[in-house]
Amino acid sequence: MLKPRLRQQLAELNAIPSVACTTAEQDMSNLPVINLLANWFEQAGFVCEIMPVAPGKANLIAVRAGTDPQAGGGLVLAGHSDTVPFDEALWRSDPFKMTERDGKLYGLGMADMKGFFALILDAVANYARTPFRAPLIVVATCDEETSMAGARALMESAKTKGRFTLIGEPTSLKPARLHKGVMLERVVISGQSGHSSDPELGRNAIDAMQEVITRLQQFRNNLKKIQQPLFPVPYSTLNLGCIHGGDNPNRICGLCELQFDVRPLPGMSLEAIRQDIRQALSGIEQQFGVSMLYEAAVTGSAAAETPADSPFVQKVEALTGTTAGAVSFGTEAPFFNGQGMDTVILGPGNIEQAHQPDEYLEIKNLSPMVLLLSQLIHYYCVQGHARF
Ligand SMILES: [Zn+2]
Repeated sequence: MLKPRLRQQLAELNAIPSVACTTAEQDMSNLPVINLLANWFEQAGFVCEIMPVAPGKANLIAVRAGTDPQAGGGLVLAGHSDTVPFDEALWRSDPFKMTERDGKLYGLGMADMKGFFALILDAVANYARTPFRAPLIVVATCDEETSMAGARALMESAKTKGRFTLIGEPTSLKPARLHKGVMLERVVISGQSGHSSDPELGRNAIDAMQEVITRLQQFRNNLKKIQQPLFPVPYSTLNLGCIHGGDNPNRICGLCELQFDVRPLPGMSLEAIRQDIRQALSGIEQQFGVSMLYEAAVTGSAAAETPADSPFVQKVEALTGTTAGAVSFGTEAPFFNGQGMDTVILGPGNIEQAHQPDEYLEIKNLSPMVLLLSQLIHYYCVQGHARF
């Protein structure tokens, strides 16, 4: 049975659109969601700061202070306030009107992941009159689904000084301590076009790109030498995603662009991989008499790893009875790890329903999630086991 207030707050979070999209016409402000959350957390005894990130975009940092400076940095519960765009025609019910069917709550952002904040409020209500020794910090970011600008701004400001972070991304209640990074890259070859009757008259960009592809395929084979068995695909991958070049069969191709992605394992820096690729592609310009640009198509995001022997990983494993594993999607974990916080990813949704029509949260997963949040708050904030 779902508590009326929890159901109401889940429905309100779902009803306020906060779509983040790289296409400007579909991109929305997240301020209405942030203001609503700030209101609720203030009523729950938190001090709230709304941190502007870009026009119409902000993060929320809500803090319930601890009384014992010796008790340590405290616990951070973090998530993103934005959702991906949606395909309304493919939904069985209104994506902004939370609908219950067969023990599931359907609505955009239920699993990924605005619903998480309503569950935090439900857990916090158990401690309304219990003093905290160490602080509880709730973070709601903007633009996680696009640029991760919210998490980046948060890290640069160094305002969340917790010791341990739980990110409520959908993992079906199983803890995860690793994920891969994502790089989206492009190579542009500029040659010289000319009449195809004499290929020597021009410098063919497709011919040069063929060499680029061969070398990237060799590089991809080398990536397989380093493996992390916790991932279903245990090595870093490289996928050739799209290629565009030339305009007509009877012209020498003057311009060709290739885009590819790399998904590096934890422990590999994006910049080091870029250096290796640059090295792998060296000499092609001279060989084919073309010019070549190699760059990141968008700012990538790093892989994340919290060590298996972290006390936070071990605590969450003990509470859930499950060994922390790896997830196949990226999160804001690297930004929290980068501030020296041990980070675990665990949420009540299932990633298979995220970014899909008819996204839902299973009602049976809500009580275990609230129980886990309550146990973490009790251990780290009330008892104060959160020392650096
Ligand atoms: Zn998410």
